[in-house]
Amino acid sequence: MKLYSNNDRFMVWQVKQLLDEHNIPCFIKNEFASGAMGELSPLDCQPEVWINDASWQPRAEKLIAQMNTATTAEWTCPNCAESNGGNFEVCWQCGQEGQVDDR
Ligand SMILES: [Zn+2]
Repeated sequence: MKLYSNNDRFMVWQVKQLLDEHNIPCFIKNEFASGAMGELSPLDCQPEVWINDASWQPRAEKLIAQMNTATTAEWTCPNCAESNGGNFEVCWQCGQEGQVDDR
């Protein structure tokens, strides 16, 4: 069944990689679709991530949701109170490791 699709092939690969890391059986469809669309609408040709077994879906969707928040959520440095983007693991201001404070 289809789990995820995105016009951005990079995002699709990220999802595929994420599922691989968690040993969820999956594969990509329409990987090379753009540029060879023929009569199909662009929507039909988006790269897609498919899972072999629908019972993986809840777990896979949770992982994808986590991936999305992990890259966008900001955090505040516990040392200097600077706010950092979610893609930084250490504070860009003072070098303090972030996201350790879960009070
Ligand atoms: Zn800091």
